[in-house]
Amino acid sequence: MAKSRARHMGISVRIIGRSHFDAKAFSSFLNSEGLSWKRSLKASQIEEIVEAAGRICYMSFGKKQSPRSNREYIRHLVCMGHESVLEHASWTFLVTGVSRGFTHQLVRHRVGFSFSQLSQQYHDETEAQFVEPSAVAQSDKARKAWKRSISLSKKAYDEILKSLADLKQSVASAVDKRELMRALRSAARSVLPNATETKIVMTANARALRYFLRIRGSIPGDEEMRRVAAALLKKVRPEAPSIFFDFEIGKLGDGSPIVHWTGVAN
Ligand SMILES: Cc1cc2nc3c(=O)[nH]c(=O)nc-3n(C[C@H](O)[C@H](O)[C@H](O)COP(=O)(O)OP(=O)(O)OC[C@H]3O[C@@H](n4cnc5c(N)ncnc54)[C@H](O)[C@@H]3O)c2cc1C
Repeated sequence: MAKSRARHMGISVRIIGRSHFDAKAFSSFLNSEGLSWKRSLKASQIEEIVEAAGRICYMSFGKKQSPRSNREYIRHLVCMGHESVLEHASWTFLVTGVSRGFTHQLVRHRVGFSFSQLSQQYHDETEAQFVEPSAVAQSDKARKAWKRSISLSKKAYDEILKSLADLKQSVASAVDKRELMRALRSAARSVLPNATETKIVMTANARALRYFLRIRGSIPGDEEMRRVAAALLKKVRPEAPSIFFDFEIGKLGDGSPIVHWTGVAN
């Protein structure tokens, strides 16, 4: 791995939405059944959704409620492999400062994820930023080559757009103009590199997130993925420590983060 400290990428992860537990509605159901539920005082709304869903499976309320706390209850569900219950909790993230190369890997996750990403057909990329991999900074030669390549790509993008812009004048309707712009940007974007910065909104349920963190968060050679995985975990763990109890964030020699799954243990 890197000898020098990793250059910190401008990755940003914001939670812009999350599941809401309607305790009042749930209580009204319990009342209608003549049941009670001893809730854990410290449990968050998201943790309570999971617990409530799990308890519905066995109707373990009132006398049938075990003395387990919310944390113990969710841990037990995970240990049993009863993880579909975690799918009721989800977050919506806005992820920025990441490369198109990274998001291409991200969107391969099909189950429990939804994505909305900045379009390179509708959005003019003339002012696009580029995400420089930390590894490039370790060699002057590599860095120069990287910068030269980015600069050439930017120039080519601008030139392609400009040289085809005259075509726009000859098109009459707004719809045709819009489609022509789409075609022009499609042609121009073909020269943009994997490093092009992008923005993506991602909704993921807790089960899918746990799976993602496990398989993607600890690959030493994939720094951008590790950084995003660690940033996601840092955001969701304070909101639902019961759900992410078996993950830890460590550091590699270059100071970049790595997500460890410690494995479930009863
Ligand atoms: C180290 C590593 C290297 C990789 N290298 C490459 C590569 O070289 N080329 C490449 O194309 N991709 C590569 N990938 C991507 C990988 O193949 C997956 O596409 C990606 O990680 C998403 O994982 P997933 O399909 O398990 O997740 P999801 O799509 O979120 O699916 C989650 C789980 O649901 C189940 N599932 C989903 N769809 C189906 C289905 N159709 N049939 C049966 N079960 C299903 C599976 O159990 C799956 O694990 C790599 C991933 C990793 C982690």
